[in-house]
Amino acid sequence: MHCPQCEAGDTTTIVIKLRGDDSVSFFQCRRCEAKWWQHGGDTIALDEVLNLTAEAETKVR
Ligand SMILES: [Zn+2]
Repeated sequence: MHCPQCEAGDTTTIVIKLRGDDSVSFFQCRRCEAKWWQHGGDTIALDEVLNLTAEAETKVR
């Protein structure tokens, strides 16, 4: 994964599992500290991440 801001290839990735095989990925660039999220191959906003994770937690309980 390359940083969309500085093009560095040095990024940290954290995958958060949702229900089923679904997951969201969090990326942070180690060079410029840009942060972004992806879901299903698309970059998404933090609002959408919170919606997805809230939904997953509701299903687990
Ligand atoms: Zn960067």
